[in-house]
Amino acid sequence: MALKKRKSRQSKRKRKLILVVVALLFALAITGYSYRDFIFAAMDKHDAAGLELPPTDAEPVETEEPGGEDEAFEPADPAEPGWTEEDLPPLPEPPPGELLRIKDGDYLLALVTRYTTLGDYEPSDLRQIPAEMIRPEQRQWQYYLRAEALEHLLLLLEDARGAGMELFINSAYRSYKTQDQLFRDYASRHGEEKANTFSARPGQSEHQLGTAVDFNSPASYMGQDFGNTPEGRWLAENAHRYGFALSYPEGATEITGYIYEPWHFRYIGVDAAAAWKESGMVLCEFLEKRCPQEFVD
Ligand SMILES: [Zn+2]
Repeated sequence: MALKKRKSRQSKRKRKLILVVVALLFALAITGYSYRDFIFAAMDKHDAAGLELPPTDAEPVETEEPGGEDEAFEPADPAEPGWTEEDLPPLPEPPPGELLRIKDGDYLLALVTRYTTLGDYEPSDLRQIPAEMIRPEQRQWQYYLRAEALEHLLLLLEDARGAGMELFINSAYRSYKTQDQLFRDYASRHGEEKANTFSARPGQSEHQLGTAVDFNSPASYMGQDFGNTPEGRWLAENAHRYGFALSYPEGATEITGYIYEPWHFRYIGVDAAAAWKESGMVLCEFLEKRCPQEFVD
């Protein structure tokens, strides 16, 4: 009798368990979840480089396609950082004798320094800068920028002209090959050590991004005195409103590895430039400490 009772209690429990499992499977089926989702959900704040990403407002990605689970847990769009006060984890150590290879040159906030490289990255959306933005005597040259950077450059130049400034462009996109020739040329004339202080090696120039520009004015052409001209001062005060940041400021050679270049600006997007300006940081520090960076393993 007692045995029968126990057996019936056991089968009751078993039925309950089966019911719960069936209900759970049903719930999983209608929400489109798989067991992998649970595993990845526990890891979803980490990107491929193991960096903790700031929260974003990104919509959760649908997982309708069979076998598409992994895509749903790609790192949040690094183009929308949170600009947190908290520093990001330090960059990974490059393999001995090598540089950190930037994963995506299209990323507007990619950290381009003497310890990272773009490899042979080429932007896919280069547009020609209109000739009137170049000094009349240099109009045989053609310069290119990525579409979004050019759009903002044109707005900047229009407003600068409105404010009585005479600004021209004398360099923009440079390919890996062009930078290679340029560096070799500088090194042959000034020696490699000196060339290193004012010229990037191929793969390491912000100009290869297609978002960096060099400005000049009638009073100053690629000289440090450009910073003291009305045009140089106007840029220093206003360029960030159009998404451009001064890459190599005065007194920051130890941090940037380059001399003061008041003519060299890089487009990083209007929001990012506002956050950079607000931070008071040197651009490379801002990119390293406030913006997620991804490198090729
Ligand atoms: Zn430059």
